[in-house]
Amino acid sequence: MDTVDLKDWGLKGDDSLPLGIVGPCSAETEEQVMATAKDLIHKNVHVFRAGVWKPRTKPGTFEGVGEPGLQWLNKVRDTYGLKVGTEVATRDHVRLAIQYKMDMLWVGARTTVNPFAVQEIADAIKEFGGLDIPVLVKNPINPDLDLWIGGLERLNAVGVKKLGAIHRGFSTYEKIQYRNAPKWQIPIEFKRRLPNIPVICDPSHIAGNRELLFSISQTALNLNFDGLMIESHVNPDEAWSDAKQQVVPARAIEMTEELQLRKEQAENTAEVKKLDALRTQIDELDHRLIAILGQRMDVARQIGEVKKSSNVAVLQANRWDELLEDRKQKGEAAGLSDKFTKKFLDAVHEESINKQDKLMK
Ligand code: PEP
Ligand code: MN
Repeated sequence: MDTVDLKDWGLKGDDSLPLGIVGPCSAETEEQVMATAKDLIHKNVHVFRAGVWKPRTKPGTFEGVGEPGLQWLNKVRDTYGLKVGTEVATRDHVRLAIQYKMDMLWVGARTTVNPFAVQEIADAIKEFGGLDIPVLVKNPINPDLDLWIGGLERLNAVGVKKLGAIHRGFSTYEKIQYRNAPKWQIPIEFKRRLPNIPVICDPSHIAGNRELLFSISQTALNLNFDGLMIESHVNPDEAWSDAKQQVVPARAIEMTEELQLRKEQAENTAEVKKLDALRTQIDELDHRLIAILGQRMDVARQIGEVKKSSNVAVLQANRWDELLEDRKQKGEAAGLSDKFTKKFLDAVHEESINKQDKLMK
């Protein structure tokens, strides 16, 4: 893809944190927007974000203030000199965002999944003369790298050259510690395939809470991401959307100051990055392993309930022998030694038996 380098996007930034995009999930009132922006004036905040059209999971919840929000964003730019950006999902959003001279646009995760919608946005950007505006494409909510890249290609094809990607994690039905699973291997592969496209991390939508924000941001910087998009609100607990994950401006700024920016080391830079990437994968695999073990224990507990009500013994040796044989074969196919598979399953089995035994008492 023929693109313009991030440093030539016209959004203030420096070598350390190339791009900091901070602001509320949603523009709610003029007062909330202005008060948040005022507290976000800082060298690490290059763009003030606020959603004015909100794709919500359920109807009947706050869906954004629309056009007045763009007026407030203009006021932020005029009053505080911050660049401003918002999410667009339809031709009409693009028309208004360009009319109100947004400095940056982004395509939301729920929009990237729909090629018709992305094409409509791309065509509208061209139609309304917005080809020079930087556009960031969030990953689709499903873990599909080609669909993500396809979205960028649609924009590139109409002539948008200031293109970037936002990693905001992936929707999952499994109960995990994150709101959206980071699946770091996907943005890593994205960077391998499109090394010229900056990738920004949105730790707020990955975390879904305030506690995990910092560590996710640090991981992103360890992996050499090009910036962060952080949700911040003057009064997070009262926010009309995504209240749990927003932080006050002072905390957002403090975070950008406390984060360790990975220095390019004179030696072994490629190895260090590779190691970070691999360790991140190990962390994520372990988290998934633990979540799956938790689910397995829950099923074992349910089996225990059935055994109890039908008065069947906890241990059935035949069943366990068969299971072990089957798992050993599967383990071998996955490159695990018999000894390891047996040891691992014995530990798992012991825990299930203990749980079931307790239930019977
Ligand atoms: C947002 O940035 O507020 C938003 C709606 O995010 P996403 O598209 O990542 O869900
Ligand atoms: Mn949000």
